Amino acid sequence: MTRPDDALSTLRVALGERSYPIHIGPGLLGDPQWLTPHLAGRQVMVVTNETVAPLYLSRLRQGLGDDLDVRELVLPDGEATKTLASVERIWDALLEAGFNRRCTLVALGGGVIGDMVGFAAACYQRGVAFVQVPTTLLSQVDSSVGGKTGVNHPRGKNMIGAFWQPRAVLIDTDTLSTLPARELSAGLAEVIKYGLIRDADFLAWLEANMAALRGLEATALTRAIERSCSLKAEIVAEDETEQGVRALLNLGHTFGHAIETHQGYGRWLHGEAVGTGMLMAAELSQRLGWLEAADVARIRAILAAADLPLAAPVDMTPEDFLAIMRLDKKNLDDRLRLILLERLGEACVHDRTPPERLVALLEAFPR
Ligand code: NAD
Ligand code: MG
Repeated sequence: MTRPDDALSTLRVALGERSYPIHIGPGLLGDPQWLTPHLAGRQVMVVTNETVAPLYLSRLRQGLGDDLDVRELVLPDGEATKTLASVERIWDALLEAGFNRRCTLVALGGGVIGDMVGFAAACYQRGVAFVQVPTTLLSQVDSSVGGKTGVNHPRGKNMIGAFWQPRAVLIDTDTLSTLPARELSAGLAEVIKYGLIRDADFLAWLEANMAALRGLEATALTRAIERSCSLKAEIVAEDETEQGVRALLNLGHTFGHAIETHQGYGRWLHGEAVGTGMLMAAELSQRLGWLEAADVARIRAILAAADLPLAAPVDMTPEDFLAIMRLDKKNLDDRLRLILLERLGEACVHDRTPPERLVALLEAFPR
């Protein structure tokens, strides 16, 4: 296979003994050199879902060679399957196969599969190896890096989980060719987020390359995923368990979470809600005198270029926002904690937003 060298990249997440590589580029799935070095032993369980299996399971199996004991488990698709019951299915399959502590779980799919398989690996026989093979842009730039794993509980999203790092992350950019356009845009929201919180040069690069990204140009995709993962990896290395700087990754997420909750999960994609939430955070930052109008205009333009929504849901009042935002788990001691922008490329945690400023923003923001 021919492949431009600049479309292939490897990063390392620096976590001492638990450090691991992230390989990024086209054509990784079918090539054994990427996956086999990270297997703990001969026993391999590939877990995927009904949407991804017909697209990529056989290609991944080619990349595993013949001398391994490979099993497959195909779960139903959707956030609704991110439950403890699905994780039990994974454990059942591992026990039925007689897999021991030297087995490796491979998560082939989006963030839902990655979170569940990681959690299953964290607990099976007190922890076994796992490899992430994320196939959505969101999972490639966000959920597969950082070691947060888990499932939803009927009383709350991601309420049951563990920190468990993968042995490796394999990001085959070719998988994005089958991703629905809306899912691609949702992933781009998180990519834009990294530029906004930590890297103004990357933000400018994204502005110049948005068309190439939406056109799935391999070199541009690799570059954007690489920079996103490396910014996330840097933040995670500084703050693995979210005591400090990791909170900045939540730019746009408090507003976005309010939108997702109010609309009911599934109507807005997470990335879409985060995109609008970032614009709300930017406008609030401007009201506090930090960002210029021109900065906010740039943010609006890049979100538009990524085909993300720029208005809040029509039926959502300021009171709806406030009621949900007050319950956010990022709040400590009753003070509303928001991630805001001091300037483009620099975010901060702010828990002293005057309530009347927030209300004014919520009233003025387009619906
Ligand atoms: P997802 O896993 O539901 O994938 C979105 C849709 O795309 C699904 O229908 C999926 O089957 C399909 N799909 C996946 N790859 C495809 C491909 N290549 N071609 C065509 N269709 C494909 O959603 P997601 O956006 O990837 O991830 C969201 C989940 O990730 C949420 O559960 C969220 O809580 C979690 N998450 C976790 C972290 C973390 O740090 N662990 C961070 C962010 C999000
Ligand atoms: Mg997010």
